[in-house]
Amino acid sequence: MSQATTRDDVTESEAWRTFLTATSEAVTPCTGGEEWTSDDDRLQRRAAELCQGCAVLQGCRTYALATGERNGVLGGLTALDRKRIRRRRSGAA
Ligand code: SF4
Repeated sequence: MSQATTRDDVTESEAWRTFLTATSEAVTPCTGGEEWTSDDDRLQRRAAELCQGCAVLQGCRTYALATGERNGVLGGLTALDRKRIRRRRSGAA
């Protein structure tokens, strides 16, 4: 699968449609969990670990990276993780 790089790439993709369907049907670990929006690094790491068991992990991660979401834990990545990935990707382009 090719790497989606923009919001449009993601929202037009089959992976995105699959993500939306799966999210609506899945029980996601983040539902109701304050760890995903906490400013506490330890809680954010805990949330990122719990994401690893989520049925929509890959779609959530793809969305978060493609849209540049800057807050919260998404797709098993903290905001800092995503910032590092964005920097690495922009440096590689
Ligand atoms: S991968 Fe996304 S939907 Fe799943 S628990 Fe983590 S933040 Fe929630």
